[in-house]
Amino acid sequence: MVYLIGAGPGDIGLLTIKAAECIKNADVIVHDRLSSSSILSLAKEGAEFVYVGKAPGKHHKTQEEINQILVDFGGAGKTVARVKGGDPFVFGRGSEEALELVNHNIPFEVLPGVTSSISAPAYGGIPVTHRGIADSFHVITGHKKDDARDMDFKILAKLSGTLVFLMGVSNLAYITQSLMKNGKNPDTPVALVQQGTTCRQKKAVGTLSSICDAAEEQGIKSPAVIIVGEVVSLHKKLDWFGKKPLHAKRIAVTRAREQASELTKKLLALDADVFEFPLIKIKENEEETKNAVLCDSDVLIFTSKNAVKIYFDGMAKNNKDIRELFDTKIFSVGESTKEYLKTKGILCEDLPQKFTGESLAELVMKNVPTSSRIKIVRSDISAKTVGKILAENGYAIDDFVIYQTVCDARGADEFLRLDAEGEIDYITFTSSSTVHNFIKSTGTTKTRAKAICIGEVTAKTAAENGIAVFAVADHFTIDGLVEKIIEISTI
Ligand code: SAH
Repeated sequence: MVYLIGAGPGDIGLLTIKAAECIKNADVIVHDRLSSSSILSLAKEGAEFVYVGKAPGKHHKTQEEINQILVDFGGAGKTVARVKGGDPFVFGRGSEEALELVNHNIPFEVLPGVTSSISAPAYGGIPVTHRGIADSFHVITGHKKDDARDMDFKILAKLSGTLVFLMGVSNLAYITQSLMKNGKNPDTPVALVQQGTTCRQKKAVGTLSSICDAAEEQGIKSPAVIIVGEVVSLHKKLDWFGKKPLHAKRIAVTRAREQASELTKKLLALDADVFEFPLIKIKENEEETKNAVLCDSDVLIFTSKNAVKIYFDGMAKNNKDIRELFDTKIFSVGESTKEYLKTKGILCEDLPQKFTGESLAELVMKNVPTSSRIKIVRSDISAKTVGKILAENGYAIDDFVIYQTVCDARGADEFLRLDAEGEIDYITFTSSSTVHNFIKSTGTTKTRAKAICIGEVTAKTAAENGIAVFAVADHFTIDGLVEKIIEISTI
């Protein structure tokens, strides 16, 4: 089955629920240059990515080659997500691909997307229709200058509705002159909205006679929509987009795929454009989880949110009742683990003063007698310090490595491509393992993006491995990291 999917104009929030579901289930994702790379991070484990968009200096795939790719994968019984910008049937050549699939008897479905022809104007504060001003809108290709079937500007110039030209930036002068030559008032308002709905959105406004200069002044480039009509004059009053603190910042967020991306959510809410770069996959060690769950202890220490999740899932799987923990003292290393424990109905002991193994060990020693049995559940890479110090001080320790973290390198190519173009402003590191895996998956320590670390330990790992650290959060939490990003963006 091949799904011809419209991914919307760029803002990831404009991806439809159905499209997101389809991308999550696909075996193969065939995509153009997408304005939101986060779309790819929805893909399931093991999905194959085929990039068929333009790449500077490289041969790009012809439409026939793309058709063939779809036929090959679709014919082999794969679930294919053919992801396109905007809507697949609005100048997206989606219908040509659909016809090719019909020719080969390959089943397909079409998932319409939010088209840039409406959404880019809307994010620029321009409604394509407005009662009393424009009763219709017309979406036109601006690409046909040398085409034998040249556009009929005589008809276009007479339309009273809004004219929206796509693919028209390089023909702007020709379009505006042709409209004026055919009788359209030279004072008709015109706007161009470039990379609408994204953090790179830019706008130029003028009239049919002045817009070429205005567009040049603003340095407007493709992709942009050209909007011609009186509705453009509403743009000042209706200009709503781009007012939040992180607007126009593109931030690569390196995280574990399985983690609910709290950081991403917070950054998106501040209007940042987020490139999710999941570098870490979590692999549970089920046997060890079972051993951990079945082992009795007086004290239980969680070194991460993932450890909590896996442990409590393990309790359910092994028929253990949560009330068995009623007299167990529970410690966690940081704020987010503590908060997550709350969702499991557990209020843990006080947090250590610092986010280090030493500090946690000190806290435990202060609060529990040496006769206690202490169970530590952790990942393969979390520090062994707590266990070591407690053992040295006479406690009986049961140490369980219930999950492993492995490198997930699939976002690397896309990251490197965007970074080379200077398209990423910041890259966040939330743990030492994200640093190691970043270097492992991209093969580089030099990025144009500025590195921001969640805390001193991560910053030290980054610096020791050759990454230039630009800033470190003052508070070792996701909120602390977000605050730091706002601080450096507004200087
Ligand atoms: N299927 C797409 C259009 C593909 S044609 C859709 O429905 O939106 C490509 C043209 O779309 C570009 O030349 C540009 O005119 C327009 N376009 C696509 N994304 C855009 C965006 N984010 N902002 C402004 N214009 C965009």
